[in-house]
Amino acid sequence: MLPYAKRMESLPFSGIRVMMEKATRMEAAGEPVIHLELGRPDFDTPQVIKDAVYESIAGGNVFYTSNYGTQGLRSAIARKLQAENHVDYDPSEILVTVGVGEGTYCAFGAFLEPGDEVLIPDPVWLNYIHVPEYLGAKAVPYTLREENGYQIDFEELERNVSPHTKMLVIISPNNPTGSVLGRQTLEELAAFAIRHGLYVVADEIYEKLVYGGQEHISIASLPGMKERTITLNGFSKAYSMTGWRLGYMAAPREVIAGAVRLHQHINTCAPSFVQDAGVAALEKAAPDVEAMRREYERRMNYVVDAIGRIPGLSCHRPEGAFYVMVNVKQLGKSAAFLADHYLDQAKLAMVPGTAFGGAGEGYLRLSYANNYENLVEACGRLAEATEKLVR
Ligand code: PLP
Repeated sequence: MLPYAKRMESLPFSGIRVMMEKATRMEAAGEPVIHLELGRPDFDTPQVIKDAVYESIAGGNVFYTSNYGTQGLRSAIARKLQAENHVDYDPSEILVTVGVGEGTYCAFGAFLEPGDEVLIPDPVWLNYIHVPEYLGAKAVPYTLREENGYQIDFEELERNVSPHTKMLVIISPNNPTGSVLGRQTLEELAAFAIRHGLYVVADEIYEKLVYGGQEHISIASLPGMKERTITLNGFSKAYSMTGWRLGYMAAPREVIAGAVRLHQHINTCAPSFVQDAGVAALEKAAPDVEAMRREYERRMNYVVDAIGRIPGLSCHRPEGAFYVMVNVKQLGKSAAFLADHYLDQAKLAMVPGTAFGGAGEGYLRLSYANNYENLVEACGRLAEATEKLVR
C-alpha cells in the first residue's frame, strides 16, 4: 500500500461529513431523517444565473481563461467591492478562485512557512485549522464565547499573539456561530493587526445573509487595512451556487501575484462559463438573494423561538449565515453523545460543536438551510427527544 504523506495527518475527515454519511445511510434504510447538518442552501440557483451559463456555453465560451480570471468578472467584482463594501480595488488586485476553499489554500499556501502561526476563531469552519496545519504552520485558536455574543476577547487575542504570528483569520458572519462582528470589534481588530504587523484573512462568504437590521462591514474598508487584508468571498452561499465552485480573493497586488502562482498549478482558472454566470449573479440576482435572505431570517426566528421554549436547551440569536449553535450544556452530556442521540432517537442530523474546535463543546450546530415545514417538524422532534433526556 502507498503510505500517506505525514502531513496528511492534519487533514482528517470532517465531523460534518461523518454525520452526513451516517444520516444518509439511515435515510437509505428508510428512516425519516431531517438534515440539519449541512451548510448548503436548499434553494435552486436563481434563473438569471442559469440563463447566463447556458448563453455562455452556447456562445462557445469553453476555453481556459487568464489565470487571474476573466476581465469581465474581475471588473464586476471590483465594482461590487466599491459599491457595497466601500473598498477600491483595481481588477489586478482580484483573483478568481474555484470557491473560497481554493482561496484559503492560495492565501495560506503562498505565504505561510512551517512554524508560522495563524490566529483563528474557535469554533471555526475547519479549513482554517487544517489548511495552515497541512502547510506546517500552526493554527492558534482564539475563543468566541456565547456570553460575549461571540465577539472577540482582545485580552485573549493579545495573549495568543507571538513573534511567529503572521496572519489573523476573521469570519463574519461566522460559521458555525452565526455571529457578525460589529464596527467596534472590527476597529479594535484593525488596531491590533496594525500594532502586531499581521495580515488579516477576512472570510466574507456569508456577508449578504445578515438579519435583524445587522450591517456587514468589510475590515478592508477601515483606515490602513486594505494593504494588510486578504478578503475571501464566493458565490456558494448567497447565490446558492455551492456546486458551481466560484469564489475570489481581493488583496494587495503583491499578494495576488503570489496567490496566482499557486492557483495556476492547482486549477489554472475557474471554469470559463461559470465566470460569466458570476457576472450575472453580481449584476442581476440581487432580488433573488434578498428573497432567500428573508426566508432564512423567517426560519431562523422560528427555530430560535422554538429552541427557547424547550427546557434544557437555549441559543444565542444569530445575526447572520444560516446556523444556530444550540446550547446543550444543561443536559450534562457531551456534544458528540447528543449528536448521536438526536440522530438515533429523533432522526435529526446535527453536528457536534466539537467538530469546529474545542470551544464547540456543549453545543450542536443546527443548519436551517432546510425548508420551513421540515424545520417545524424538526423542532417538534427536538423537543420530544430532549424531554426524554431531562426526565
Ligand atoms: N467559508 C466559510 C466560512 C464556509 O462556511 C464555507 C462553507 O461552508 C466556505 C467558505 C466554502 O466556500 P466555497 O463553497 O466557496 O468553497
